[in-house]
Amino acid sequence: MDFDRFKKLHDKYSASDWNNLEMSDFSEYTEAMQENKEFHDWAVKSNLEAAGFDYSNYCCITMANHIFLSYDDNGEIDHGNHDVIMHKWEDGTYGIPVQDGGGSVVKIKFCPWCGSNLKTDE
Ligand SMILES: [Zn+2]
Repeated sequence: MDFDRFKKLHDKYSASDWNNLEMSDFSEYTEAMQENKEFHDWAVKSNLEAAGFDYSNYCCITMANHIFLSYDDNGEIDHGNHDVIMHKWEDGTYGIPVQDGGGSVVKIKFCPWCGSNLKTDE
């Protein structure tokens, strides 16, 4: 798949117009997202920009996206959402929520995706 075709499919499937869903195109799109890091990162950046989320202060686009996905509609950490796999607090601490019904979080010091040291000002 070339990048232009990927961008067309991205426009189609990020527009929330699921009425015109064509499974063959959609499979092609999601496979390209998984196989091509350049396409994946571009698509994630496009989604974050469209949502007005500033991803520039994160170690990588994947972390930025997971933090974006961890907030609810009011911009608060969405503790009840089992799809959330990463939290970040205002003090810069990152952690993986334990999905056992409580509020436990396993703090992490390095990004699981890019390996960056997440320590802030110590
Ligand atoms: Zn990272």
